[in-house]
Amino acid sequence: MKITFHGAAQTVTGTQHLLRINGHTLLLDCGFYQGKRAESYERNLTFPFNPRGIDAVILSHAHIDHSGNLPNLVKSGYRGPIYTTPASAHLSNLMLMDSGHIQEQDAEYVNKKRFKRGEPPIEPIYNLEDAAHVAQYFQPMDYEEPFEPVPGVRAQLVDAGHILGSAAVSLEIEEKGRKIRLWFSGDIGRRNLPLVRDPILPEQADYMIMECTYGDKPHREPLAAYEELRDVVKKTVERGGKVIIPAFAVGRTQELVYGLHRMIDSGEIPRVPVIVDSPLAINATEIFRAHPECMDAETNEFIRSDRHKTALGFDLLTYTRSVEDSKALNDRTDPMVIISASGMAETGRILHHLRNNIENPRNTILIVSWQAPNTLGRRLADRETEVRIFGETYQRRANVATIGGLSAHAGQTFLVEYAQAVKGSAQKIFLVHGESGPAQALTEKLAEGGMGQVAYPALHSSFEV
Ligand SMILES: [Zn+2]
Repeated sequence: MKITFHGAAQTVTGTQHLLRINGHTLLLDCGFYQGKRAESYERNLTFPFNPRGIDAVILSHAHIDHSGNLPNLVKSGYRGPIYTTPASAHLSNLMLMDSGHIQEQDAEYVNKKRFKRGEPPIEPIYNLEDAAHVAQYFQPMDYEEPFEPVPGVRAQLVDAGHILGSAAVSLEIEEKGRKIRLWFSGDIGRRNLPLVRDPILPEQADYMIMECTYGDKPHREPLAAYEELRDVVKKTVERGGKVIIPAFAVGRTQELVYGLHRMIDSGEIPRVPVIVDSPLAINATEIFRAHPECMDAETNEFIRSDRHKTALGFDLLTYTRSVEDSKALNDRTDPMVIISASGMAETGRILHHLRNNIENPRNTILIVSWQAPNTLGRRLADRETEVRIFGETYQRRANVATIGGLSAHAGQTFLVEYAQAVKGSAQKIFLVHGESGPAQALTEKLAEGGMGQVAYPALHSSFEV
């Protein structure tokens, strides 16, 4: 068997691992590389392998850095199955359509600049229509249901506890009379995350491809995030202000809604309106509701005993789909919580809410995830006092609060436990999906625990096993 690391190699995004087994080719994930615009365009546009030569794809989960280049794969001639869980197939359809729309907008933006310079226009990497073509290739597989993606390979998807439908991939490979067990972690979740089940640890693997995003630091407990959210809402409402939360539409928004639902029902926070203002989040929420099989026991128990009979809806919660309803929120002065996308406050409806509320010292802007450098979200998290929104300068007088501990990725402590689970059997662990700092820190931690066979493969490098 040959493993080639065509993405998320010595970086975080763009996961694509190619396996060559018994003369067949299997692709683990087909992620989008997300970096600077021009570099991302080049890297995502052309594959370093022939898409027509792939026999099967296994998709670990719906995040764009794992699924985002599937439309281009199909556009480039791939016609085989894409094995993934039913929830991931469902969620990927939604996210890929959204991504297709973003690719179209991006190309339009670039082309305006190119036109001014007298340069020919570029094509989007894929468009909405290309994204819609992917759905027919999904081959939904339940967790732990065995399947044979290519001859001689017995595969299973195992709950990764990262986002709705997320999976690790367990492969039992028979090649030339030899048996090899390969475990691909996908993105590793955490224990006690809201909504989803806890990740399942790997068993008995000869080789493991493992993510290491937070290999250098342990996380705070999810419960701490719940308490921080509660305190921020309470304080802001007491001052008569609004809480404005830029949040990713898929995953983070649903976690916040579930948390606020519990807080309001239990009287931990005052009964204030909660608004989710993002069409993508609304569609994603419907998919969460359609997949109770992915929810943890605590959530299902909550739904059973809840008077609204759902984790993601309650009497004070409003989902606003139309632009008119979104704009109507501007005129309201009563305390409320507004959750809106995008998660880094770069685009989308959140910009209107920030513009309307940033200069009022009663309000709080709540940052609930890591913010990339040079984004508005990062400038807010850094508590800059003057920010630009829609090309105009605003004085930030609203409070800024940040909540850690909500990450959907395992921190260092759990990553070590995860790797230790294959200590007796693993001949090599390949660390992927992490920058060099975290990878090195995790490698050192693992060495302390007696695990020396750790590699950090370079982009496009291959290993014969
Ligand atoms: Zn992910």
